[in-house]
Amino acid sequence: MSSDHSFLNDVNQMFSDAAQLMSMEEGLANKINVCNASYITRFGVRLRGKMYTFEGWRSVHSNHPSPAKGGIRYAPYADLDEVEALAALMTYKCALMDIPFGGSKGALKIDPSEWEPHELERITRRFAQELARHDFLSPSQNVPAPDVGTNETTMIWIADEYRRMKSGDINALACVTGKPLAMGGIEGRIEATGRGVQYGIQEFFRHPQDLARTGLPDGLSDRTVVIQGLGNVGYHAAKFLSLEDGCRIIAVIERDGVVRNPDGLDIDALKAHVMATGGVAGFAGGTHDADGTAALTDACDILIPAALESVITKDNAPHVKARLIVEAANGPITYDANTILRDRGIVVIPDLFANAGGVTVSYFEWVKNLTHIPFGLMERRRDERGHRVLTQSIEHMTGRSFPTETAQELMSGAREIDLVRSGLDDKIRSAYAEMSMLWNSNPEIPDLRTAAYVIAVRRLAEIYKALGI
Ligand code: NAD
Repeated sequence: MSSDHSFLNDVNQMFSDAAQLMSMEEGLANKINVCNASYITRFGVRLRGKMYTFEGWRSVHSNHPSPAKGGIRYAPYADLDEVEALAALMTYKCALMDIPFGGSKGALKIDPSEWEPHELERITRRFAQELARHDFLSPSQNVPAPDVGTNETTMIWIADEYRRMKSGDINALACVTGKPLAMGGIEGRIEATGRGVQYGIQEFFRHPQDLARTGLPDGLSDRTVVIQGLGNVGYHAAKFLSLEDGCRIIAVIERDGVVRNPDGLDIDALKAHVMATGGVAGFAGGTHDADGTAALTDACDILIPAALESVITKDNAPHVKARLIVEAANGPITYDANTILRDRGIVVIPDLFANAGGVTVSYFEWVKNLTHIPFGLMERRRDERGHRVLTQSIEHMTGRSFPTETAQELMSGAREIDLVRSGLDDKIRSAYAEMSMLWNSNPEIPDLRTAAYVIAVRRLAEIYKALGI
């Protein structure tokens, strides 16, 4: 990738390709496209006997509707260009998924592996104070979530700091999502983005016309998959696709190279190895090669970049052999690479849609926090009673019994995790159906990414028109 390459420029170009296909009043496209506000903070924390200065950012790309939503990442390579690009993606993602959030993103320039947990906690709490003081953190205005380098522990430190600052705010915990279950979190949030990747791929395979464009056979069973990144998103996607859909994960790329196994890797065993050793090297269930990037062009059916942005560039795009690429990470394909892949007939399921599971379940968590009641609490037992009466009546009338497993499934009321997965599946299916319909019915829409942007921008244009500003 050339040094003058900009992730933000890529996102802007993808936006303008879509905007050009729509008729909008003058100036509106620019209003939708620009980032509303970016806050830069530099704060000091005394650690290890001296003062360290940290630099962080929070950008609000749009706040119609409110709150603005988007992850906070901790990474040594983070910068404002990346944060603004990711904030813009959040705006388009929420609009595509029809979730009532604006788009935001934040980052702290830090390598979390260099700090002890108690040090990270102090740094995070100071960062949270700065964000809250400047209205870049609040349940009604700006709600972060985990992203690269952050997790549910980071989120609860932020929420707790906010709660101390705003002790009268009964909704204080809703200032972040992705919290631990015991502190206002929701079942299924940790798995949500990977789960959404799985649901998205399942839905793609349910659309024969779209599947035909890849030349892949029907059904997910035994499809070969290469995944980059075995973090939160990559791990869950790999696990669900292998264990539940029968895919063969033939390569996993991590920081220290790639591990390959043509018969399929045992994802849980590999994850345990990565957690214990910090990498994929030395994993007994596969063959290691230090050149991980090369595996992005391995022969496979589905390639899932789930680590970083801009990993598929104009240099390696001509050599990609996968028939389908699923952008589990944000922005893994550069604008130029996207054009090359499209010309080569490789289908890309875009990030706006592919990784929207996280923000979708974050939305459910935020609603749960505001209502102060878990999903399913009021109706579960009542539903169970109703289902039992129905099952027993059918058995009585037919004189035959349901098989035990079916009866149990029929009679159980929905738990929070069932409702979360059902809601997520519904959102994914609806968004995919819209994208697919537009792609297949309009010759001007060259790919799913453009379809996703057109749907998102249309919704945003309607909001701005309705607001009259
Ligand atoms: P994570 O930090 O949990 O995982 C990232 C993984 O990528 C880690 O295992 C890391 O070791 C690996 N990695 C880092 N550099 C690499 C390299 N050069 N080559 C190969 N692997 C490398 O982060 P995550 O939350 O899984 O996020 C991954 C991507 O998904 C990011 O683009 C993020 O913005 C996006 N995303 C995350 C969520 C979420 O809910 N966590 C939601 C939407 C989108």
